[in-house]
Amino acid sequence: RIVHVNGQYLPEAEATVSIFDRGFLMADGVYEVTSVLGGKLIDFPGHAARLERSLAELDMTSPVTTDELLAIHRELVARNSITDGMVYLQITRGNPGDRDFAYPDPPVTPTIVLFTQSKPGLADNPAAKTGIKVVSIEDIRWGRRDIKTVQLLYPSIGKMMAKKAGADDAWMVEDGFVTEGTSNNAYIVKNGRIITRQLGTDILHGITRAAVLRFAAEAQMEIEERAFTIDEALAADEAFVTSASAFVMPVVQIDGAAVGDGRPGRVATRLREIYLDESRKAAL
Ligand code: PLP
Repeated sequence: RIVHVNGQYLPEAEATVSIFDRGFLMADGVYEVTSVLGGKLIDFPGHAARLERSLAELDMTSPVTTDELLAIHRELVARNSITDGMVYLQITRGNPGDRDFAYPDPPVTPTIVLFTQSKPGLADNPAAKTGIKVVSIEDIRWGRRDIKTVQLLYPSIGKMMAKKAGADDAWMVEDGFVTEGTSNNAYIVKNGRIITRQLGTDILHGITRAAVLRFAAEAQMEIEERAFTIDEALAADEAFVTSASAFVMPVVQIDGAAVGDGRPGRVATRLREIYLDESRKAAL
């Protein structure tokens, strides 16, 4: 695999980052994951815009422009012959040459790393036909979940808790209300109305969420942006999650109990089709 590190394209075995990089020592960095379908980038402008916002919130500046970023994404997709898969991008505060809590002053050049992952048939994931199972866990993450940082330890722990319980993922709950999945935004559908938590600092502002809600509104579907509980989800007609890599994925079980009739719902299935169709058309 050819990867990109700080302006260079290299075989992955030759790509290195300093042990003093603040991404490594302090999880001081941000990332984006952009899906590739048919060799093209899905929702790239949205991911690039969120990256800029995450960086700004942490007083970092991108070492590359959005145009350069697009060119690097495309180059990696081409060099690695990716038809379906994703491009991972990470920017960390860089290597100050030593360990210190304070940011380096003056700032050092941020470290930028990109690599591809090939996932043949990504859009035909069989899980979309059966739906996934989730378990609820407490949300004990920090308070700025709107910044897409590389601090992913608790979401990893959540995934492991789900696995142990025989489920596929976890929905995190704070003060009695679902925040989001470990790596996706959460939704329920009741009487045709789509309900998903409102944006704030307590969830990631999903790029797929924004696109799916736009397509739902265009299709005259009713949308309510508010928090919901696990009990409400269990009484809903359907549930689903969205993310750049799962697109729209039905949820058929929560904490061992069926949602609706225990099969992928009509709304989730339709939104998945619309999202895949429309985002492929707009792919870069
Ligand atoms: N919420 C969390 C915590 C995530 O990690 C992700 C994606 O990684 C999402 C939501 C979905 O965001 P997007 O649709 O931009 O992939």
